[in-house]
This record gives sequence, structure tokens and C-alpha cells, in this order.
Amino acid sequence: MNIKVRIPTPLQKITKNQTDIVSDGQDVRELIENLDREYPGLKERVCDEKGDIRRFINIFVNGQDIRFLEGDGTKLKEGDEVSVIPAIAGGVDLSEDQIERYSRQIILPEIGGRGQEKLLKAKALVIGCGGLGSPAAYYLAGAGVGTIGLVDSDRVELNNLQRQILHFTRDVGQPKVESAKEKLSALNPDVQVNTYPLRLTSKNILDIIAQYDIIIDGSDNFPTRYLVNDACVFSNKPLVHAGILKFDGQATTIIPNEGPCYRCLFPEPPPPGMVPSCQEAGIIGVVAGMLGIVQATEALKFILGAGELLVGKLLICNALEMNFRKLNFQRNPGCVVCGDKPSIKELTDYEQFCGVRPQG
Ligand SMILES: [Zn+2]
Repeated sequence: MNIKVRIPTPLQKITKNQTDIVSDGQDVRELIENLDREYPGLKERVCDEKGDIRRFINIFVNGQDIRFLEGDGTKLKEGDEVSVIPAIAGGVDLSEDQIERYSRQIILPEIGGRGQEKLLKAKALVIGCGGLGSPAAYYLAGAGVGTIGLVDSDRVELNNLQRQILHFTRDVGQPKVESAKEKLSALNPDVQVNTYPLRLTSKNILDIIAQYDIIIDGSDNFPTRYLVNDACVFSNKPLVHAGILKFDGQATTIIPNEGPCYRCLFPEPPPPGMVPSCQEAGIIGVVAGMLGIVQATEALKFILGAGELLVGKLLICNALEMNFRKLNFQRNPGCVVCGDKPSIKELTDYEQFCGVRPQG
């Protein structure tokens, strides 16, 4: 039997943003049970602990209030339309716990209840659960960004702990995405954490980034950085970039079709061996933290539509001098991915491009 159920905005979190659902049931009570099986938590929102429909929710079958029919025993037949109508006031759908949890940021005029709802609905992908990704993901989860994806194929090593704040001593040997997920979930149960224990490639990246509103690149190698840039340009996804080495950091935000991309700034990666990695040259944990937090800040501003992003601007900083500077750069008309006549129109082999793997 097909019963069309109209889901109100406050319950659409549970129904994965679906507004209309086709379900089944002999009567309203059975329909709610069936819906709850498919979308766990729905019954709890609609019914109290005794199983009665909550008093701030009305249910209508074909436009008739079931309180004036047979209540939740109201029979259903093929093609019926059931509407769930909760009382709403002001349109902000936050629980008391959420209002308390986010109270210090809800009072900011740039956020407010509406902004908090935007954050809870937002989906951010953090690439790399290391020195940049750890603090970035931590602050995004704290702020209530509702869905956070984590990509990392590595396991936690002892030498990571000096800067990768999501991992603890007991996590050494564990997959980083699992260790990170555990901390983020413990910090904020509002957050849905999706894990991708894999290395991004030209084969898998487009499907993954398609599910997110904003991408934060905290990867530690040039092939991934160029892959992520190109995939974001092709998919029209905003990207927050940061790089760190020793006491230096740099960050920029890429909004495809609006500002320049990473290749506009650095058309080619340095040849292998020219720029040492953190493994070779070292990194101080606080610089990773500073830049990861810059990335989280950019992502939050993007989601909220607040302030000015680092679009066309490269923030560079040095912790020894405690210098922060912003340099302007522009879209390069000759850019191979976002220029006027792009020569690269699909993802290529980035290890070869970056000279990590010899040609042929
Ligand atoms: Zn470009």
C-alpha cells in the first residue's frame, strides 16, 4: 500500500531532507512504526514515551485532523496523504540542549538561530586528519557543523601527537579517521561524522566531494593538493587550502568561477626534493594549529555567509616573527584548469604531474 507522507521541516533532518515519503501502514500508528524503522528517531519526535502523539503535533489524513477521526487508529488506504504538522514558533528548530550548547555563538549577530541552523545543515569535508585537519575538524564539530567527512588512509604514529590534536597516545596504530571520529563524536553528538579511510585519487574524489558543501584541504603532499584543486574547480566546490612548514604557514580560499584557483597561484608544483616535507624539515605543532583554525574559520564564514573570505588572497604567516600578511593574487587567464582556454578538462595522473612517479 502506498501512503504519501508529508514531512515537516523540523523532521527533515531525520528523513535525510526528504519532504515527501511513500510508506505503508494499515493505520496511522502502524505508519509511524514503519516510518521509524526506515528513519530511526522519527517516532520519538512524533510520539511521547507512552506512544501517544505529542500534543504539539497534529496529524492530518487527506486534510482531516485525526483527533476528529479515530486518532492514531485512523485507518489508511492506498493513495492516502498524511501530513505531520508540528507547532512552530519563529521557525528556528533547535532543541534546548542545542540552544545551550551553542549559546555563546548564537548571541553573535553574524550567527543567531538561523546561522546555527545553517551550520547544523552544512556538510564539510576535511581531507587529512593530521596537523591541519585535526584542529579544523575539531572547531567545525564544536561549532555544530552537522556533517563532517574525514579522509585519511594513514594510521596514528607517535610522532603525530605533537600536533595532530584529535589523536591521543592510546590511538597509536589506529586508523586516523577512526581515532578522529571518536573524538569528534564525543565532543558533539549533533555531528554526523563520515569516514573515508582511503587515499584520494582521480577515480574516487569526484563522488566524495559531491556530497559536501565545502572542502578543507589539510593534505600533506602535492599530488593530493593539485588533485583536490582540480576536482573542486571541475565540481564548482569551494575549497580552503593551507600549507605549513617549520614556522611558516599559508592559506587561501578558492571559490571556483568567482576567484582564482590554486593553480592560478602556483601553476606547477616544485620539483620533488626542492621543498622539503614536514617529515624532512620539521613543523611546530602550533603553526599547524593556527592554520587549521584559519581553515575552519573560512569554512564557517562561508557557511554563514559572513565576513570576507580569503578569495584571491594568500595569507602568509611566520610564527617566529609573529607576522601575518595578506597578498593579493588574481585569476590567471592562462590557468590550465580555470583559465579562458583550459587545457585540462578532466582529472589526470597527479603523481606523474608532480614528478613523484616517473613518466611511462
Ligand atoms: Zn586557476
